[in-house]
Order: sequence, then structure tokens, then C-alpha cells
Amino acid sequence: MEMPHTRSNRRQFVKLSTLAAGAVMLPSRAMAQAPAAFSLPALPYAANALEPHIDARTMEIHHGKHHAAYVAGLNAALEKAPQLKGKSLDEIFSDITTVSDESVRTALRNHGGGHWNHTFFWNTLAPAANSGAPSPELLTAIEASFGSMDDFKKGFNETATKRFGSGWAWLISANGKLRITSTANQDNPLMKSIVPDADLGTPLLGLDVWEHAYYLHYQNRRADYINAWWSVINWAEVSRKFAAL
Ligand code: MN
Repeated sequence: MEMPHTRSNRRQFVKLSTLAAGAVMLPSRAMAQAPAAFSLPALPYAANALEPHIDARTMEIHHGKHHAAYVAGLNAALEKAPQLKGKSLDEIFSDITTVSDESVRTALRNHGGGHWNHTFFWNTLAPAANSGAPSPELLTAIEASFGSMDDFKKGFNETATKRFGSGWAWLISANGKLRITSTANQDNPLMKSIVPDADLGTPLLGLDVWEHAYYLHYQNRRADYINAWWSVINWAEVSRKFAAL
């Protein structure tokens, strides 16, 4: 009589402790996952702060809908690539080839790139009154690489205008030199083994030339949007990135 009773108790104990462990596991697992999930950063200024160059409605939709969708898509893709959870976006980009499922890899590339690029974009913009100018060191490097600030602007405008379809124009630093380049869709110059080697480097400045970035206000006039963008560049932040190279 004693054995079954003991066994039953033990079974019951095992069952209870499993339940207890499960009950404890759930919140702790949820807590462990929390840092792995990316979240939409707040804009570093009010949505209307860049007017009249970039209008409030465009900023609200661009940040609150488009950028938010990239964050959601990135988190959904990471659910299918648990080995990349908890990693930074830079690490995800460099380890992306370890993801065997092509659709997950594509989602990480598009949504992870979208999250990185837009976070970078918001931080390199500022109200026109606070736009400032490149640091003397950055200006010297721009002049050394492109001849003059005007030549740099001309070259950047041309690259941004010519980017066919959706994508980004960039000022990057690569091998100690500054270069203008562009990427398609939400690719960026940090994506080794995804973008061509010629486009790889450390981004200092990036311009979103997707139609969603300008269509509400500028319609098809990408060139007008590009010209307006020069008035709202956060040169202090760009100079800080250059100094940190
Ligand atoms: Mn965008």
C-alpha cells in the first residue's frame, strides 16, 4: 500500500513542480525575451519641427506607420530566427547568411534594414534653425574627397536623384576616405555579403528617397525634396559620427 501511495505522491509532486516551474518559467522567459524585441524609437523632435522642408503629416506617417511596420516585421522575422534574438542589428546584418530560410533572411534584410535606416535618418535630421554646419574636420575631409562642399552636394544630389525606384543615398567612410553611394530598398552600407563591396562603409549621412518619404508634399518632385533636405541636416550629429570613426 505504501509504494503506490509514495509513487502517487511523487508523481503528484513532479506534476506540481512542473506546473510551478511552468508558471515561473512563463514570466521569466517573457522577461528574457523582452530585450530581444526591437521597439520604435520616438522622434527626437516634434513631427512638425522640420517644416516647411518636411511636413508634419509626412513625418507622422513615415515614422508612425512605415518605420513602425519595419520594427514589427523585424520582430516577427526574429521569431523565426531565434539564434539571432538579442543581437544588435549590426550583428544581425553580419550573421544574416547563417539564416537558412530565404524568406526569413529577406524579412530580416528588409525590415531590419528599414529599422536601422530610419533610426539613423531621424537622428541625422534637425529643425532648420538647428541644422548648423559640418565640423571643420568633417568639412576638410569633404573637401579632400570631393573638391568642395558644393561639389559634394552636387554629387550627392545626382546619386539620390538617379537611384531608380526605392532606396537610399549615403555619405560613407570607407578605407579612410569619404564616398557617395546608394543602396536599393532598405539595404544599407553595413550589410556585408548583401550589398556590393563598393557600397560598403560606415554611414555618416543617409537620405531616404522612397516615395513615402516625400510623396504627400512633393508628389513626384524628388529633386525638390532632396534640395529641401539639405536645410534640415543635423550637422552636429553627422560631425559626431565622423569624429567617432
Ligand atoms: Mn522611409
